[in-house]
Amino acid sequence: MLNNYNKGLDSPAPNTSIRPAGPTQRIEEMEAGTVTARSAVAQLAERRWLVLLFAVILFILSNVYRLPWDAEAAALLTAAAGAALIPRAGMKQVSRPAIAGPMPPVEPLHIAASIIDALPEPAILFSRDGTILSSNGKARDLFGGLRPGLHISSATRSPQVLDAVMDCGPEKAQRTVTFSERVPVERYMAATVSHLEAVPEREPFTLLFLRDLTEQRRLDQLRSDFIANASHEIKTPLASLLGFIETLQGAARHDEAARDRFLPIMAKQGERMARLIDNLMSLSRVEMRAHLKPRDVVEISELVRHTCDALEPMASEANVDVQVHSELDGVQVLGDRDELTQVFINLVHNAIKYGRPGSHVAVKLERQQSGGSSMIAISIEDDGPGIDSQHLPRLTERFYRVPGSAAMEKGGTGLGLAIVKHVVNRHRGELRISSKVGSGTKFTVILAEHLSAQVAR
Ligand code: ADP
Repeated sequence: MLNNYNKGLDSPAPNTSIRPAGPTQRIEEMEAGTVTARSAVAQLAERRWLVLLFAVILFILSNVYRLPWDAEAAALLTAAAGAALIPRAGMKQVSRPAIAGPMPPVEPLHIAASIIDALPEPAILFSRDGTILSSNGKARDLFGGLRPGLHISSATRSPQVLDAVMDCGPEKAQRTVTFSERVPVERYMAATVSHLEAVPEREPFTLLFLRDLTEQRRLDQLRSDFIANASHEIKTPLASLLGFIETLQGAARHDEAARDRFLPIMAKQGERMARLIDNLMSLSRVEMRAHLKPRDVVEISELVRHTCDALEPMASEANVDVQVHSELDGVQVLGDRDELTQVFINLVHNAIKYGRPGSHVAVKLERQQSGGSSMIAISIEDDGPGIDSQHLPRLTERFYRVPGSAAMEKGGTGLGLAIVKHVVNRHRGELRISSKVGSGTKFTVILAEHLSAQVAR
């Protein structure tokens, strides 16, 4: 290795001493993988429009995704460095034109097309008169039949977008509008139209960058429905409490009988509000941790027995008999102890609450095999009034109560089963509900057994 190197120094490579510096030498530098400062500056100047195009796209993306400024600056610097230092092409491609003459310029449209191809959202590039020049795969998925040479109005008929396209020019370099498409399915979109003067003295481009807002709108709608429902649920007992307070302060100020009648109702309304707030807080806690896999090792039989024991006073007050049947003592699952306790409290509490005096609740733990995995099925079955099948799919929706059921008079919040569903989802488990009007209801929670602990036992 050392010998060869020395030999190289003793006998200079052919041509290096006689060839003048110039384009051929620059190409050789590229061939050798080295770029001098002079050639880097020259290359950066040559590719300035590419960096400019990248900056415009970065600006759009940063508006859309609110990128931090330091990340934007780093991306821009990286692009500039890349434009300055990355050789134009592989060795063979570079060396051939060097012998034949100057390299042919790379068409700006080809580079722009490959940039929009890499964008994660639909993007269409067209000329100022609206003729489509290029589009990426996402845009073609969105608007079928998108082809170069067609007018942009063949992609969308939205007047907002077409106006923005017509308006866009050197004076109005960028504009964002929102619009909706009804066919083939209803969608809400944001369109950003940008005027790009990529290469001086060449025809400018217009870039249409689209973002699908449908999912975001749906989430916004869910959020505002949730706030409206929660406010309504809290306002009802609050209004009733305020009404009683006003009566006791006014007309019934000295009416002892009225006070004795009203105070227990007021206490019930207060408890209902407290329950509602507790449930809302539990739901939000579970939602916040939805992406974290629970890690506690929980002896599930023991947890279910403790839960039923804690509810025993309520069961005997309602004259409902709760029995736990389990052959699986010591069996473990990976879970969050508090959340699983909440699940079985909600399910057993419902079975007691919606049962009638003298009814029975059977809580069973069984092992099942599913696709080679060992699962633990915990079922809570009552012989209460049952639920009509049309309501079953909606039971786990927030605030859903079966119309005409005893839920309202029993102080139900309609949040218990929503919490159950969220916790079971977080545990990557399954919730099954079956019911027959007049016969009773069965809720089954299925969780994966924690086997490594069993092997160790
Ligand atoms: P709630 O606080 O109203 O009980 P849940 O989300 O726990 O809220 O339950 C939703 C609805 O499902 C209840 O309002 C009730 O109508 C019905 N339900 C739940 N469990 C039972 C059951 N074991 N038997 C009959 N109906 C039930």
